[in-house]
Amino acid sequence: MRLNAADLTALIGLCREQIEQHCERLGRLDSAIGDGDHGANMRRGLEAVYRERDAISALPLPAALERIGLVLVMSIGGAAGPLYGTLLMELGRGLAVGEEEADFAAILAQAVAAVARRGRSGPGDKTLLDVLYPVQAEIAGHAAPLRIAECARNAAQATEMMLARRGRASYLGARSIGHEDPGASSCALLTRAICLYFKENAPS
Ligand code: ADP
Ligand code: MG
Repeated sequence: MRLNAADLTALIGLCREQIEQHCERLGRLDSAIGDGDHGANMRRGLEAVYRERDAISALPLPAALERIGLVLVMSIGGAAGPLYGTLLMELGRGLAVGEEEADFAAILAQAVAAVARRGRSGPGDKTLLDVLYPVQAEIAGHAAPLRIAECARNAAQATEMMLARRGRASYLGARSIGHEDPGASSCALLTRAICLYFKENAPS
């Protein structure tokens, strides 16, 4: 996978736009089973990355992803900051040690595993991991971008019927059932923004 500076700048802009557009909805989802700040947290994070987009995009891809991860940790805050940060930093590290034709699916699997360790969580706990696992599986299966985006949305929706076992929502016990997880929702939105870009621009 080769992304040039222009691709990276465009992707940062699209992710920021997607979060901006859905900020209120993410806040409402988090109000139902958490403290209501997920939209604002994600907006702060994407705004911070957006402000640095030119410097970030000028870096080689592995360093750029690591930098994005660090900025997200510093700016999102809450539980989601270290988790999204870990994902991006591990992707960057994985790509840095990878071969010329690094297997992105394998690197993503490692990064998702690092997020799970960081959150001490796994499949079915009603978190953003419930989107990351199926997205990784689709990528490993070489699914088309639109299929991956659709899978992410369905996976986020499927968290509605799960009982939260991690994070603030877990304090609610069975009352967490019936609400989509905000982190899963933001993860599906970001996946969609990235997939639509890949569909239109097909970087090789
Ligand atoms: P906070 O819970 O600190 O207010 P946010 O509202 O920004 O942080 O993020 C909440 C989201 O973070 C949840 O919807 C969930 O997807 C994710 N999350 C929280 N705790 C964990 C965890 N231990 N493992 C994985 N994901 C988690
Ligand atoms: Mg919250």
